[in-house]
Amino acid sequence: KFSYPHRVGFESANPTGKIPLGLKRKGLRIVVTGGAGFVGSHLVDRLIARGDSVIVVDNFFTGRKENVMHHFGNPNFELIRHDVVEPLLLEVDQIYHLACPASPVHYKFNPVKTIKTNVVGTLNMLGLAKRVGARFLLTSTSEVYGDPLQHPQKETYWGNVNPIGVRSCYDEGKRTAETLTMDYHRGAGVEVRIARIFNTYGPRMCIDDGRVVSNFVAQQALRKEPLTVYGDGKQTRSFQYVSDLVEGLMRLMEGEHVGPFNLGNPGEFTMLELAEVVQETIDPNAKIEFRPNTEDDPHKRKPDISRAKELLGWQPKVSLRKGLPLMVSDFRQRIFGDHKEGS
Ligand code: NAD
Ligand code: UDP
Ligand code: UDP
Repeated sequence: KFSYPHRVGFESANPTGKIPLGLKRKGLRIVVTGGAGFVGSHLVDRLIARGDSVIVVDNFFTGRKENVMHHFGNPNFELIRHDVVEPLLLEVDQIYHLACPASPVHYKFNPVKTIKTNVVGTLNMLGLAKRVGARFLLTSTSEVYGDPLQHPQKETYWGNVNPIGVRSCYDEGKRTAETLTMDYHRGAGVEVRIARIFNTYGPRMCIDDGRVVSNFVAQQALRKEPLTVYGDGKQTRSFQYVSDLVEGLMRLMEGEHVGPFNLGNPGEFTMLELAEVVQETIDPNAKIEFRPNTEDDPHKRKPDISRAKELLGWQPKVSLRKGLPLMVSDFRQRIFGDHKEGS
């Protein structure tokens, strides 16, 4: 029988031999890197609600304490300010590895740091997973497909990425992160999962992250500024509401399959169509202004989600027209000073 030699009096205080309630292990111990960010904080909410113990590891580059503040004081929640580029020792059952800026404006800000986060940061978290036998989930991206020559994109497509372009720090960084993940799986037997996430939006996105949805909604329509459409506005994206993504990530982690899995909403919109939906939702009189497009901007993006449907039993439930108003009310509160943060 296992005993605690340093706990004098433990046995006698519990003559029944039952573990006292406070010591009972409930749920799993889970690390969420990047857990103070947009997607991470929503994931943390779900894990905590499920009864797991969650450790958020974040350097607050794009994340905010406000996103997780509602868990402060909960004994099942810990927040560590740490950069994943540095090694980290923890004892956990699962690692959701999200740490990495996601918006092009943020990841281009310090491209070398973005590569280090993706490569060295992912290596460290895989090293941690190997040491403690934890299951590791990588949040990769649709950007591994680059400017895709296949449409919609299937997981079997190898992509069309410019290795020396301004987006490469992110695209190639995530591709290398996927490679590392598979090499730790094959070489060291680490249990891994890979998600390829397509454009996701929702409450708690950074207001100034420069992504199209936050620009149109937070920077522009709500402030009565014109919507800035880059290029001719005919390029497409598929926009997924954050709760659908979180459901997909959790199913992937708990399921039997390594992946990669596309997690995205197959509803495809041109940027001009997106501007129309924003007009319908916020202000029918909002004007549109055209601006030059950024370098290497992918022309089309739409996930083929057959694999996730079949193997994870997952598909998105929230359409853009349903999800956008949910984000708008959060942005309104944050911009116009109602003190409630997050959702
Ligand atoms: P986000 O920028 O809101 O969150 C990223 C979090 O990681 C932030 O809290 C940030 O402070 C933290 N971080 C960054 N570098 C770090 C480092 N070196 N050490 C520790 N923490 C660090 O972005 P998000 O939208 O929540 O994205 C989360 C993950 O999902 C990212 O890995 C991103 O690449 C991936 N992803 C997101 C989208 C999307 O549309 N949101 C699409 C594809 C992939
Ligand atoms: N690592 C970590 N936490 C751990 C175990 C490893 O941060 O609990 C880091 C470690 O510092 C190394 C990386 O993960 O930089 C890869 O570790 P691994 O053991 O796979 O390789 P090695 O240390 O032999 O290079
Ligand atoms: N875009 C736009 N107006 C903006 C910001 C972005 O038209 O104010 C376009 C951008 O050129 C791209 C698409 O919207 O074609 C999506 O850009 P975002 O930065 O949101 O994410 P990406 O999918 O490129 O990572």
